[in-house]
Amino acid sequence: MHAMPSTDTIVAIATAPGPGGVGIVRLSGPTALDIAQRICARQLPPRRAQRVRFMAAGDAEAIDDGIALTFPGPNSFTGEDVAELQAHGSPAVLQQLVAAACALGARLARPGEFSERAFVNGRLDLTQAEAIADLIAASDTRAARAARRALEGVFSQRVDAIGAQLLRLRVHVEAAIDFADESLDTLGGPQVRAHLAQAQAQLATLLAEAQRGRKLRDGLHAVIVGPPNAGKSSLLNALAGSERAIVTDIAGTTRDTLREIVRIDGLELTLVDTAGLREGGDIIEREGMRRARAELRAADLALVVVDARAPQAGPDLEGALQDVPLQLWIHNKSDLLAQWPEDAEARIHVSALAGRGLDALHQRLRQLALGEGGETAGGEFSARARHVEALQRAVAHAEAASRELDHDRLELAAEDLHLAHDAMGEITGKISSDDMLGRIFASFCIGK
Ligand code: GDP
Repeated sequence: MHAMPSTDTIVAIATAPGPGGVGIVRLSGPTALDIAQRICARQLPPRRAQRVRFMAAGDAEAIDDGIALTFPGPNSFTGEDVAELQAHGSPAVLQQLVAAACALGARLARPGEFSERAFVNGRLDLTQAEAIADLIAASDTRAARAARRALEGVFSQRVDAIGAQLLRLRVHVEAAIDFADESLDTLGGPQVRAHLAQAQAQLATLLAEAQRGRKLRDGLHAVIVGPPNAGKSSLLNALAGSERAIVTDIAGTTRDTLREIVRIDGLELTLVDTAGLREGGDIIEREGMRRARAELRAADLALVVVDARAPQAGPDLEGALQDVPLQLWIHNKSDLLAQWPEDAEARIHVSALAGRGLDALHQRLRQLALGEGGETAGGEFSARARHVEALQRAVAHAEAASRELDHDRLELAAEDLHLAHDAMGEITGKISSDDMLGRIFASFCIGK
């Protein structure tokens, strides 16, 4: 399934763009050691830091001096021969090192190509390669820890274990097909059903955890909606302000859709303050409504802000809310009520103006973001939409297999188990198309 070993040597700057104390140029491929030794004009023993002068071919003056390290394959990050040249972190110096390597036959790496080679050479599975990208991009400790766990294989091991179980079940059912005259019950059917039920339960748990992992990685996409003047902007500012959040304006937003990203307890909430939603209205208002609908379609959570004195959203908005998986109604301006009401499951009372009820709102948001309890036992791992989608497919196929077994339709059950097993294999990359791999690795940065 996988590509042949690479025949070319790639090079890239591995450290972040811009000036720094130290900058690293990395090479991987069959001529990596040779190229590094020529740039350093000396032999480089494996895994030993060597103080060297970096020279470009045909140039008497050194590019820089620094440290060179070599890792002969297969015990390297990519599984190929790898060399690292550590120079002063000047973009000009690092560019010259890359040019010197290219002059000696290396080519510039594509984004994610080092990780892709590590995957192709079996040094990492796909979820682990993705976890590297997630770890590099992690913006807080919690997301970084979750990515570390995925990198250590916490997620892959569980995927593989369930996959192996589905495979065993399939083999058992296929063996039973050969005894077509007998019903499954005489061929260990109850045992097969019990094992399938067990696999289904494990799948459901893993799916829930992967969904949480995805939210940790991607942030929960929350949208603020509500009638005009309910206090949406005020609430947005109060939420952002009380968390001293990093508030970012995203370029290209229109005057009626303001996006801000607020980090609350390690979760990224994208708050989209849409134009007031009301029926009819003039063209601009209708356009605002159209955008709000589009935002809601992509939302995980709708924060519906209403005036506590008249807590209705209007039929148009309520229609648009139907497809949003989670809703929290926020009764703002509760300071204007004669008495502060009790909060309920899906309704919370606040005053953006007086800053009252905001702590409870934060707590509720955290719960909604992370699911029941708001916290996990600390085993959380980062996951992607791709993983969640594959797990959902595995769940659906396992359910179908269970139904077919109930009707003694063994061929169909075997096929569904096959599809469920394949869906699990896609997650770790055991089953993959070049197309999918290309898309995944292209989203990495160059030098990774
Ligand atoms: P939006 O149109 O929904 O974004 O509403 P704004 O945030 O612009 O607020 C509309 C008006 O309500 C402003 O005059 C706010 O000062 C006022 N307002 C917002 N929140 C509260 C609140 O909690 N209590 C009171 N009394 N007034 C509020």
